[in-house]
Amino acid sequence: MKVAKFGGTSLADAGQILKVLEIVRADPDRRIVVVSAPGKRSKDDTKVTDLLIACAKAALARGEAEAELALVVHRFAEIGRELDLPAALLTDIEQDLRGRLAADRSHKGLFTDAVKAAGEDYSARCVAAAFTRKGVPATYTCPREAGMVLSDEPGNAQVLPESYDKLAALRDRPGVTIFPGFFGYTKAGRIVTFPRGGSDITGAILAAAVKADAYENFTDVDSVYSADPRIVPDARPIELLTYREMRELAYSGFGVFHDEAILPAVHANIPINIRNTNRPSAPGTMVVPERPAHTGGVVGISSSDGFCTLFLSKYLMNREIGFGRRLLQILEEEGLSYEHAPSGIDNTSVILRDHQFSPEKERHVVGRIQKELAADDVEVERGLALLMVVGEGMRYTVGLASRATQALAGAGVNIEMMNQGSSEISMMFGVKAEDRKKAIKALYHAFFAA
Ligand code: ASP
Repeated sequence: MKVAKFGGTSLADAGQILKVLEIVRADPDRRIVVVSAPGKRSKDDTKVTDLLIACAKAALARGEAEAELALVVHRFAEIGRELDLPAALLTDIEQDLRGRLAADRSHKGLFTDAVKAAGEDYSARCVAAAFTRKGVPATYTCPREAGMVLSDEPGNAQVLPESYDKLAALRDRPGVTIFPGFFGYTKAGRIVTFPRGGSDITGAILAAAVKADAYENFTDVDSVYSADPRIVPDARPIELLTYREMRELAYSGFGVFHDEAILPAVHANIPINIRNTNRPSAPGTMVVPERPAHTGGVVGISSSDGFCTLFLSKYLMNREIGFGRRLLQILEEEGLSYEHAPSGIDNTSVILRDHQFSPEKERHVVGRIQKELAADDVEVERGLALLMVVGEGMRYTVGLASRATQALAGAGVNIEMMNQGSSEISMMFGVKAEDRKKAIKALYHAFFAA
């Protein structure tokens, strides 16, 4: 049995939904289908989830969202018309969305999540109706009834362990189960969503719960590439990745697969196959527990910007017991999650994601650190990009760091930070965001083209 997840571009219009139907029809093992909300039909189009977020914002700001709602209803009406779906389904969709927008707005996060999740829900209803109409019996499944119970963290929820036992029953359902991705319910019965792109997480949870033989993740590229093809147009496709490689690459910029979707598959040891809805004959990329020993070297180079560094120095910091704990405690109390903490003798630095560290927050945190830790100097530097060079085989290969630093030096890229050793399968470099593309090209050339 396979769980197949289809992303937004795979369901963007009627033509794409028909491709999905053929893919499911072609393999009777594809019994659980997880769907995203309709995505972009062209470069300048807007994803339904973004239209829904605009609806929620408008309702919160103005108390109504008629214009924004019309755009969502229009997208589904178009899909419905082209697939000849029952008119009642489209009327229900409009009514349901009106209901969500008219609901209690006192908790902004929960209100927004309920609206945001509607895209996946309606998508699943349309896909189930279309499949059935075309002779593939399929049933829409409500995540609440199926038992997708999530933590009470709007926009950032995590699955609760008790979900797995209940969701396992999906294995015994007849026909094809169509399951909306991206959201579930809190214990109190409120809708909450995973982080953006979270339908991948739903798929992985279901694959683990039903102990699927494979988790197929259908998207709009033939495979995962060894570097972002928008930066390196001839980047090599990757046939095989390990879970750990995928997690590290997905963390820092490989947008093809959500990094939080790996964990459920890892726990249940389920191979992940990333494939292309537009070219189902391509084998795609397999993500598996292990790679044959000593093969692989560097398999991928990823990058992501949007980081900043908090630098601290204090003379004799190395002898001050509890300094690190107290620093991290301040960050914890301020609700800041940190990514990395490279440190020296009298200095330490903490790398954070920029978006959570507003200028006001920065002033406040820097003030606290100066006062409570009596630091000699505290500075924040914005505009940092992280680059990751990843591969299981790296642990057996000598001289990779020197190759990477030489490549960066040759391209005139200054290394702001280096982190090597905490993970034996990757090296991390911090560079200025404006140097990111240049750095990726240089590293790719050093490891793949030289
Ligand atoms: N539709 C959601 C988003 O755009 C979730 C997903 O597509 O995975 O983030």
